[in-house]
This record gives sequence, C-alpha cells and structure tokens, in this order.
Amino acid sequence: MNKVREYCPKCKLKYHIEPSFYTGSMYVSYGVGIAVAVAAYVLTLIFGLDFGPTGIMLSIVAALLITMSYIGAVSKSIWAHFFLKYNPEIAKKVSNDSRT
Ligand SMILES: [Zn+2]
Repeated sequence: MNKVREYCPKCKLKYHIEPSFYTGSMYVSYGVGIAVAVAAYVLTLIFGLDFGPTGIMLSIVAALLITMSYIGAVSKSIWAHFFLKYNPEIAKKVSNDSRT
C-alpha cells in the first residue's frame, strides 16, 4: 500500500535517499491523523450530531479508517518535501522534453 517509486520517471530524482527513508513519515502521519480526528470531531459539532462520547470516538475511528491510505500518502509526500529539493533547471528541461 502506498509504495513510493525509487526514482522520478521523468527527471530520475532518487526518492529513496537512504534505506527505510519513509519510515520517518510515521511522525508526520501522527500529526495528520490528529488533524483528521479533530476535523471529524468538529464536523460532528457543526452538524449538531449528539453521539455521546462513545459515538464521537467511533466517528473519529471511522474517519481515520476511511482516510488511512490517504493519510499515509500525504505523510510520505510531506516527509519527502522536507528532504528532497526542487531543481528548477531540471524541471524546465523535463517540461521541454515532454513537449517534443
Ligand atoms: Zn521529477
């Protein structure tokens, strides 16, 4: 689930800069998961749903289960953006290559 490619198919940027690089994305996924949980809780308040504590907990768990693969993908993307650099020259070259 949510496999990251070894290299960018266009500019050959290496996505795995060290072994188990994306294991660190679990730190990011914790924060993203908290954000989803808070959003689920706020949505139950906005829509005036009175589930009680157990119902709120179950709705948060349901929201986390539904968005689980998305949270994993977003977390890996955020984690990669901490360490991988955007090179405008390579990007320009790649966009020129794709036009031909
Ligand atoms: Zn690329």
